[in-house]
Order: sequence, then C-alpha cells, then structure tokens
Amino acid sequence: MAFEGLAERLQGTLTKIRGKGKVSEQDIKEMMREVRLALLEADVNFKVVKQFIADVKEKALGQEVMKSLTPGQQVIKVVNEELTALMGGEQSKIAVSQKPPTVIMMVGLQGAGKTTASAKLANHLRKKHNRTPLLVAADIYRPAAIKQLETLGKQIDMPVFSLGDQVSPVDIAKQAVEKAKAEHHDYVLIDTAGRLHVDQELMEELSQIKETVQPDEILLVVDAMTGQDAVNVAETFNDQLGLTGAILSKLDGDTRGGAAISVKAVTNTPIKFAGMGEKIDQLEPFHPERMASRILGMGDVLSLIEKAQTNVDEAKARELEKKMRTADFTFDDFLEQLEQVRSMGPLEDLLGMMPGMNKAKGMKNLQVDEKQIGRVEAIVRSMTKKEKQDPTVLNGSRRRRIAKGSGTTIQDVNRLLKQFEDMKKMMKQMTGMQSGKGKKRGKG
Ligand code: GDP
Repeated sequence: MAFEGLAERLQGTLTKIRGKGKVSEQDIKEMMREVRLALLEADVNFKVVKQFIADVKEKALGQEVMKSLTPGQQVIKVVNEELTALMGGEQSKIAVSQKPPTVIMMVGLQGAGKTTASAKLANHLRKKHNRTPLLVAADIYRPAAIKQLETLGKQIDMPVFSLGDQVSPVDIAKQAVEKAKAEHHDYVLIDTAGRLHVDQELMEELSQIKETVQPDEILLVVDAMTGQDAVNVAETFNDQLGLTGAILSKLDGDTRGGAAISVKAVTNTPIKFAGMGEKIDQLEPFHPERMASRILGMGDVLSLIEKAQTNVDEAKARELEKKMRTADFTFDDFLEQLEQVRSMGPLEDLLGMMPGMNKAKGMKNLQVDEKQIGRVEAIVRSMTKKEKQDPTVLNGSRRRRIAKGSGTTIQDVNRLLKQFEDMKKMMKQMTGMQSGKGKKRGKG
C-alpha cells in the first residue's frame, strides 16, 4: 500500500516525542526537521511541505501545546490535524444533482485508470447508494477503450452507451444524457479520451463536452504512481476545465504517495475516491482523517469495521463465534472463516488498519505470507467431509493422501493438525476463563 515509507518515518520521529513530559522549542525544531525530510522523501511537493511545516510549527509552539500536561501527545495531535487538513479535511462526497441525471465527466491522461475508475464508480453508486448509472464510452481514440468499458459493464451488468468511434465525443455525450433522461438513469458517467501528455486539442474537446452537457462533476483520475507529474497534470486540467474532484488510482501500488497528497494542496481539488486495486470493487471513498491516522500509525478502525460490515455475513459470524466458544469448531468452519476474512481484502492491508499494529513488537516487519495461507487452505480442501468434521480419523495414510492432493508435505499436514488442536484447546481455555472469571473481569 502507498505511504508505507512515509508512515514508517513519521511514526519513528513521533515516537521520540510522544512520551515527553516536557517539550522544548529545540525538540520541536528537531522533530520538524525530520518530518520535513520524511515528507520530501515521500515525494510530497516542496511548496506543500514548506507550508505544512510552517503550520505545524506555529501550532506546536503555541502556548496550549507547550504548557499542556502531555505536550508530546499534543504535538502529535497537531501533526494529525494538519495532515488531515492537507489531504482535504472533511470527506468530500460525490455530487447529487437536484435535477437528475447527475452528470460526471471522467478525465485524465491515458493509462491513469479512467476507464476502470468509471466502471468502479458506477458500481459503487449502485451498490452503496442504490443509484442506476449509465456508463458512456466517449473515448473514441484509444482503440480498445470502448470495448474495455463494454466488457467492464457486462461484468457488473451495467448499461454502457456507445456509438462506436465514428461519432464525435461531444455528440456521444449529448445523446447519452438525453438517453439517460428518457430512461431515468440518475447518474451518467462519461469516460472521456486521454492522451499520453496534456495537449491542447484534447483540452478543447473536453471543454466542448463540458459546455454541452454541463456536468455536475469533473473528476480527474490521477495515477498515484506518477510522482510530481501528477501535480502538474492536475494543475493543467484544473486550469483548463475547473475540476470538482480527483480520484487517486493505484494507491494499492508500491508508491511513495506524496505526489498524490499534494494534488489537493496545490489545486485545491478534493480527493473523492482512491483506487485500491484492479478489481471492480476496489474503490474506496477517500477519508482524509482516516488516511492521516493510518499514516501516523493510529489505525483506521472505522474503515476496518465498514469493510467487515459489507463483506462479512453477520449471522454466519455469530454462529462461528458460538462454535468457537463451545470449541465445536471444525475444519469446515475454519474454511468459512478464512473465506470471510479473505473477502475483506489482502491481510496485510487489514493489519495496516489496526492501531499500533506496525509498531507492536515483532509486527513491524510482519509480512503475511499469502502463499502459506493458500497452502493451509489447499490442505483443508483436500480433506473429505468426514475428515473435516472429525480430524481424529486422520491416520498416516489419510494424511499422506491429503499431502499429495494439496501439493504439500506430510509435515505441513501434521503441523496444521497440531495447530488446529492447539487452537481448539486455547478456545476451550478462554471460554472457561470467561465463564468462570467473568465477574472478576468486570471489576478490574
Ligand atoms: P485509462 O487509459 O485511463 O482508461 O486507464 P485504464 O482504466 O485502462 O487503466 C490502466 C491500467 O491501470 C489497467 O491495467 C488497470 O487495470 C490499471 N488500474 C486502474 N486502476 C487501478 C488501481 O486502483 N490499482 C491498480 N493496481 N491498477 C489499476
């Protein structure tokens, strides 16, 4: 995930000041020097860094912080607030037109992820807001763009309006909006053409589309991997078209991310969504305060809970929890649980949302080995129904068969069985503790 380097450095710096009962001006200056370097290294635009440091310094050196009982923590609070402000402060929501349909123009350079983002956003609007969007293929220049949008549309069963590549994008957009009105679509998402570089001809075409359809939103899709260029691109598009928002794509990638943060600060265009992967449901509303606390290692419990709410079947989860409490837990249940957790996304991302997880001892360099989890899953899947329900029947020859069937070794199978037994034992103990000492817990 992006911002990893930044998160690590900022957290390292802030840890030094966190516990201090007394903070001197010198401490603050030193800390700010390190914060400044961390931001620059993360590719945050230098002008943005300068302003940020000045703002934090002023507040951190203020009376309230220096005289408080916990100055170290107050300083961190200031950094958190300023980082949140830098990324846009309040979450910026997508427009809703009083006179439907709400028209959204998606713009950006070629390869930024515009077509993907259009489909993702349409999917999001339908799934989370019960909307009925119409996707519009207006990128007539990139040969595969129309087909790509149509394929994505089919994948999510979403209508795609297209007139091929011989009609002008302005006409396509115009007719699409008319069709949306006639057919009562409440959102129209126009996937416009991009170029490899900003060029005047493209800007003129986009301006014409804008004039014609009067969009409620012009969203710039920026590739978080492109570094400072993202800032320049955003500035140009904003000057020429007047952007209403940005979507940061590829934030899942191994990017320093700083340029993406700077887009808001430089153009004053709010970041509305972040693309977190290639899959259609990997688009997340951008919450500045949550992102700031993720970067500062304070976790993002709200996003974690939301993820759990959308992906985990609550009734099933309750049932599993009961089984765990009664230690009535079989390998079938284990698989089910694994699937539920998996549906929430890569484990590493989930861990990153837990407060303090990257600071906890031994967790800092924790890499979840997805392959290892895959092996465990393969072993369980190679068991028969009976074996999953009652692993005590697993004698030597059965274990050999499972190892062969799952492409693992007999040692792997033995280890898993042992772990599973240990886990059940632990569950039993914990249940015992809860029922036996429940009252005591309430007191302390
Ligand atoms: P367009 O030219 O702007 O329409 O770009 P596309 O939508 O075709 O995207 C270009 C490439 O980036 C495709 O391979 C997408 O799968 C990929 N992509 C788009 N968004 C994301 C994202 O959020 N994360 C990742 N990892 N890849 C993305």
